[in-house]
Amino acid sequence: MNHIQDVAVLGAGISGSSLAKSLADRGWETVLIDSKHFPRHKVCGEFLSPESQSMLQQFGLHEAVRSLQPRLINKARLIFDHGTPLEIPLPGTALGLSRYALDSTLHKAATSSGVHVKTGTTVTSVYPSRRGFTVETKQGKKTQTYEARAVIAAWGANCRAGLPGHRPSGNLKPTYIGVKSHFKGIDMEPVVELYLFDGGYLGISPVEDGSVNVAALLKRNTLEQTGKSVSGLIEAACRRNSKLAQKLAHAIPVPGTQAAVAPVELNRKPLSWELIPQVGDASLMLPPLCGDGMSMALRSAQLCAPLADSFLSGNLTLAGWQESYSRSIQHQFNGPLQWGRRLQWLFGVPFLPRLLLGAAHFAPELAYKLVQATRLKESGS
Ligand SMILES: Cc1cc2nc3c(=O)[nH]c(=O)nc-3n(C[C@H](O)[C@H](O)[C@H](O)COP(=O)(O)OP(=O)(O)OC[C@H]3O[C@@H](n4cnc5c(N)ncnc54)[C@H](O)[C@@H]3O)c2cc1C
Repeated sequence: MNHIQDVAVLGAGISGSSLAKSLADRGWETVLIDSKHFPRHKVCGEFLSPESQSMLQQFGLHEAVRSLQPRLINKARLIFDHGTPLEIPLPGTALGLSRYALDSTLHKAATSSGVHVKTGTTVTSVYPSRRGFTVETKQGKKTQTYEARAVIAAWGANCRAGLPGHRPSGNLKPTYIGVKSHFKGIDMEPVVELYLFDGGYLGISPVEDGSVNVAALLKRNTLEQTGKSVSGLIEAACRRNSKLAQKLAHAIPVPGTQAAVAPVELNRKPLSWELIPQVGDASLMLPPLCGDGMSMALRSAQLCAPLADSFLSGNLTLAGWQESYSRSIQHQFNGPLQWGRRLQWLFGVPFLPRLLLGAAHFAPELAYKLVQATRLKESGS
């Protein structure tokens, strides 16, 4: 008979790693599984919002993250092709930090807490078994099966077909493609810049090693035909916003840092549970425009950890865990998700962003309030 783990966390991004660490810190034997080898570059704006700081602290990850010497960011700047850029102060200090450095550091912290981290291991199936759940995995041609009393999905937005929580790609709304690359040769103040244009937007954020991260979300039907490579898509974005073209005119791409993801579906229905709990992007995806997806991933892990602990201790049934977790996900994320989607929609309507920008210059508190509505509130509120 296979050895049985207390808990298997599937996906070792920010939600899975923090959750696995938290469960190991509570004394549970935990395995954390990811299909990728780390460190790896990942499509993300690499802007860790001010809201995430207290959560990193509560997971005992703050020191490890600070030791990577992230860039400190204190304002956001919205830049259209025409008009004066709009500056919005952030509600605290954000961090500019690559996922290359961040995710590996979270794995080290999880390992130090006793988590068994298995990378290069793809989960192919999960099903209930007599003692809990069976997780089937593939490592190249090798297969391995894990048994666990509890299993948690943290595999991000693009869950593979056949796994619990997989949602078939919708074909009515436009889906997006996400790309990223690091660049050298750009002077960057402690600011995250968001360039908006017809067909998407592109963010520039300074990161720990003096380079900047460029990440874009582009409507597949309008920009995909302009080029398939990451650099081709970034060049296409530059043709749609002259200020962006100026900003990147002398930028030098850092080899090996390019990544792409598709489809990015912004209208997926939230799903907190299907057979097993879903955390982070597996549960719901905030529009990346809000720059708060990582903080949401941390918060969902924070909500799930004590419930998993109660279940493993025998103080909560699986049904009770499902009920409490689903309720808190809805309570915490419905507001930011709705406001984030409204903002995403507003920025996609021709001329509307420019009107909004004009209004925001006259009433800066309006822009600040709109941005605040998309943010997570402090725990407990
Ligand atoms: C263009 C773009 C820009 C963004 N910018 C920002 C930003 O600036 N700030 C911000 O806070 N958020 C941003 N986000 C969102 C942020 O990246 C996500 O919210 C965050 O990564 C979610 O973390 P997660 O742990 O839930 O999932 P992920 O980080 O996606 O991790 C999931 C992990 O699961 C693994 N996995 C998947 N399937 C399997 C499988 N079958 N078996 C094993 N492992 C598997 C994957 O390899 C991956 O490592 C952006 C997103 C996009 C698309």
